[in-house]
Amino acid sequence: MSEHVLVWFRQDLRLEDNPALAAALQTGKPVIPLYVHAPDEEGAWAPGGASRWWLHHALESLDSALQEHGLRLVLRNGPSLDALLDVCRAHQVSEVFWNRRYEPLITARDARIKSRLRSNDIGVESFSASLLFEPHTILNRSGKPFRVFTPFWKHLRTVPVESPVPVAAARLIAPVKAPQSETLQSLGLLPQKPWDKDFYENWQPSLEGARTALNTFVGKRVNRYKDRRDLPGVEGTSRFSPYLHFGQLGPRQVWQAVQQTESPDGAGAYTFLSEIAWREYAYHLIWHFPETPERALSGTYANFPWEPDADYLRAWQTGQTGYPIVDAGMRQLWQTGWMHNRVRMIVASFLVKHLLQPWQDGARWFWDTLVDADLASNTMGWQWSAGCGADAAPYFRIFSPMLQGAKFDPDGDYVRMYVPELARMPSKYIHKPWEAPADVLKKAGVKLGGNYPKPVIDHKAGRERALSALALNREQQPPAE
Ligand code: FAD
Repeated sequence: MSEHVLVWFRQDLRLEDNPALAAALQTGKPVIPLYVHAPDEEGAWAPGGASRWWLHHALESLDSALQEHGLRLVLRNGPSLDALLDVCRAHQVSEVFWNRRYEPLITARDARIKSRLRSNDIGVESFSASLLFEPHTILNRSGKPFRVFTPFWKHLRTVPVESPVPVAAARLIAPVKAPQSETLQSLGLLPQKPWDKDFYENWQPSLEGARTALNTFVGKRVNRYKDRRDLPGVEGTSRFSPYLHFGQLGPRQVWQAVQQTESPDGAGAYTFLSEIAWREYAYHLIWHFPETPERALSGTYANFPWEPDADYLRAWQTGQTGYPIVDAGMRQLWQTGWMHNRVRMIVASFLVKHLLQPWQDGARWFWDTLVDADLASNTMGWQWSAGCGADAAPYFRIFSPMLQGAKFDPDGDYVRMYVPELARMPSKYIHKPWEAPADVLKKAGVKLGGNYPKPVIDHKAGRERALSALALNREQQPPAE
């Protein structure tokens, strides 16, 4: 029986700019492309419902791309090590290639798998594909991890970004005998109840969709990115996040395509590239501070006086807080699996500050409902919003949903899109319907406490309670030495 090599696909579900696949091709041997479904190995952070939906389609799309070269994606259920050993033994696999991941549990698992495969005389090589710079390669002048974004970003701009890795997929050789595979349906990734109808209208979760998103952004939106990226009512951002998370787009591909548009005046491209650097920063933080998905980076928040309340949490999750911009964001999330970054910051601030709910509860809800749920970025985003992470927004800076709405959604287009009960409210009151006179409410067909809720908490009262909690937390800290 002839020898094979195996590519273990993970969060790199693409053929282009895929160094593991390129290395497999260089051996000149038949290639087995394998995906192992092993959610248990992700611990508390197994993919949520929206991510599973995306994953299903991403695997389907990768399989189609492989079929163009005469191969099929082999699907197996975990444990990953058992699946790998089984395929390796059945097909005389001499070497296994994969692209690295950086989440704490996965890094430890991969190290174990690497050593077990090697002890079975199977070669293993892993590569960098999902980041521009691997977290352990970037340190500050004192040899320590960065804890502030601006110097991190300044440093990144001095390090050259590698070009995408060329992959001669046309040279792929199919396995001599097709390996045994599960069916995609049997992995059970799609929802049992059909809540995903709107997802299909909003997303093309395929490699073709990734290409279209890149072309659309580079061709049109990038030049106006800087001016429009904070406006949730317009399509001003790239929407690359799920493609980047699942590796249907590689950051090197994005960087190269966007950098070519960079103009000397530093318009859209520079700002956009700095956002890609925030993603790198999130991975930097999770790598160097692996406890942060569960615990605040800032030790002073270990015993913060949160006031968990199931009713508040439910009102927030379902977009029924009575604050239009918050409700619009939460409903956009539920309907489309995505939320605009500005609104993510507003809803997160509202949950942890106005409602005094633990940031971890918000992070969990996002985890289950975002198609781009990403442990590094989600952890950083929530800790930033709660004021307990690296470069966190100071706790005393409490976003006013009304002012944020007026500034970033001045005509209320975004609110009208996701909160149809308020569609006929005049712009003057769209972000604070409780201030509208009775006749205005009546004319707009809005009944507060009827078809649209009254605010779950008064803005001023929520703000003051949050500030008191902060003061209490400060008092409870042991005195500095
Ligand atoms: P663009 O503005 O077009 O940015 C391009 C890319 O840069 C994004 O696709 C993303 O990969 C990266 N990026 C941009 N902003 C950030 C940021 N603040 N942090 C990290 N990367 C960034 N992003 C996720 O990918 N997954 C998450 O689970 C996630 N959870 C978040 C939770 C909270 C509370 C907050 C405040 C932010 C979170 N973000 C998360 C970051 C950000 O909101 C999304 O990356 C962004 O909205 C995706 O839309 P886009 O692709 O159109 O972004």
